[in-house]
Amino acid sequence: MNVVLVSTYDLGHQPFGLASPSAWLKQLGVSVATVDLAVQPLAQKTIAPADLIAFHVPMHTATRIAARVIPRVREMNPNAHICVYGLYAPVNESFLRGLGVQTVLGGEFEAGLVALVRRLSAGGEPGVNALQSEPVVSLARQTFLVPDRSGLPVLSRYAYLNLSDGGRRTVGYTEASRGCKHLCRHCPIVPVYEGRFRIVQREVVLEDVRSQVNAGARHITFGDPDFFNGPKHAAALIQEFHSEFPEITYDVTIKVEHLLTHAHLLPALRDTGCLFVTTAVESFDDRVLEIFDKRHAREDFRRVVARFREIGLALNPTFVSFTPWTSLDSYRDFLAEIAELGLVENISPIQYAIRLLIPMGSKLLELTEVRRFVGRFDGAALCYPWAHSDQRVDRLYQDVLSLVKKGQCQGRNRRQTFLEVWKRANQENESTAAGLRELRLDDVPARATIPYLSEPWFC
Ligand code: SF4
Repeated sequence: MNVVLVSTYDLGHQPFGLASPSAWLKQLGVSVATVDLAVQPLAQKTIAPADLIAFHVPMHTATRIAARVIPRVREMNPNAHICVYGLYAPVNESFLRGLGVQTVLGGEFEAGLVALVRRLSAGGEPGVNALQSEPVVSLARQTFLVPDRSGLPVLSRYAYLNLSDGGRRTVGYTEASRGCKHLCRHCPIVPVYEGRFRIVQREVVLEDVRSQVNAGARHITFGDPDFFNGPKHAAALIQEFHSEFPEITYDVTIKVEHLLTHAHLLPALRDTGCLFVTTAVESFDDRVLEIFDKRHAREDFRRVVARFREIGLALNPTFVSFTPWTSLDSYRDFLAEIAELGLVENISPIQYAIRLLIPMGSKLLELTEVRRFVGRFDGAALCYPWAHSDQRVDRLYQDVLSLVKKGQCQGRNRRQTFLEVWKRANQENESTAAGLRELRLDDVPARATIPYLSEPWFC
């Protein structure tokens, strides 16, 4: 049997979501080809001989691209069985089936792909109408195999790490866990994992790091939704990582609450080569944080900032800066807090223009208030549309997004873009016009920009 695994977009990483199932499927003795459409073309010669074509959709953008590509793939090969797997597959199941997708696999998908290949092989002709017998969401604990990265484009074709001194490092990517034990309402992981997470065995993670270091990686991104969901697993892993790869740096994502409850582990992160920690702050408005059920407040984040300064570790905060509860005043307050905390150099400008996305299955839809303002599900955008009750806020969002994109095209630095956004945010802020603070470049302390990936985080 010929299997083709396709990634459409994975935030500039060499896709773990292709490498891991590749290893599982090759063990069955089937032929596996991989295509990463972020850096490779969709070639007829790869697609035409496939019996099974499986798309990995770890994020919203990847799913939207897959939805556009699937009809083209169907034309190239009308007889192949089409599968979509990954975090965004189960919540979009009915939409995907409408596109002719026969198998949908979410959660711990490797075993499901193996079962699918066995089912299709047993049926002789892998017919397009074969009914799915694998669970759409599986949270079964898997014994992982070392991801097979052979056949994937080289690491230098992916996002790199920009260092504070202007240098660059080749980046590898792996996952030490999947899912999350928390239930934040706006998070796409929750409808699938429902408060559970699954560990990737330490020896598998280290072997995957080893193979990427051998392939030229000098920095590893651990893509776990929350690296401290399993603090013992994380603590043991970074010690082994550092003793074997003392020159290799890494970054992780950890929620604000865990940065406080597991604060004793932070020095170990610093001492084992962690260059920065991404943390989803989302908002400085405690009401929004409560609606999202983030389990932290504005004051908690201030404590985290202070602690990070104390121990000399860099933070990479992310936000949902435009929500239905954002006002002109609260947006200005958001920017003021960033300046006040001295975080301008820590924040990727795209974070000033992230608008709340309400995908299918979002727990936010359980709130009456939210159900009242969303429109009908938009199949093209793959989300529930919403408009702000104050049109000026939606205009502000559009303008900030344009400023951020323009800043990126013109090579502006983070401080310059921040000031542009600040100026725009204060333009029509009537209630605060009297107290409008002039902010100049000199008012934003010039700190060294923290190391950052050339492809910033977004959904
Ligand atoms: S802690 Fe992060 S990954 Fe976990 S549910 Fe909340 S937003 Fe999602």
